[in-house]
Amino acid sequence: MTVLDRFPPASSIAAGNHVNKIIRANYPDTLYAELATESIRSWRDPAGIFAGLYHRCGWLLAALGGGSSLDFTEGSIKTAREKASSQRKKSALRM
Ligand SMILES: Cc1cc2nc3c(=O)[nH]c(=O)nc-3n(C[C@H](O)[C@H](O)[C@H](O)COP(=O)(O)OP(=O)(O)OC[C@H]3O[C@@H](n4cnc5c(N)ncnc54)[C@H](O)[C@@H]3O)c2cc1C
Repeated sequence: MTVLDRFPPASSIAAGNHVNKIIRANYPDTLYAELATESIRSWRDPAGIFAGLYHRCGWLLAALGGGSSLDFTEGSIKTAREKASSQRKKSALRM
């Protein structure tokens, strides 16, 4: 694969050009939640290319008042519950 970029790494205009990023798997959209979970698995892999870079930290998902922020938060909680329930069922089937 050849990557062409306007600037050498780390590109000064890239949104991804930061020392720290917070990654989470909580999204209302199941596909996003699945992709994030897969990505976190790679970041946490002690034998992977990101070894030593991932650190668990606390975070807070909150919304003020109504509107899209509250919808996002409630949707994220709903998806997380569904994911947890599905994982519990899979674990029970494996036993
Ligand atoms: C302040 C800030 C904080 C953020 N915090 C988080 C966070 O905590 N967690 C999180 O998950 N996300 C966070 N995000 C969002 C996340 O950084 C972006 O969604 C992600 O980096 C986007 O990646 P990208 O590769 O699409 O774009 P970018 O990282 O922006 O990369 C775009 C690349 O394209 C190159 N480019 C631009 N124009 C051209 C051109 N004409 N020709 C060739 N190359 C070009 C640039 O040089 C750059 O390297 C944050 C974003 C910002 C701005």
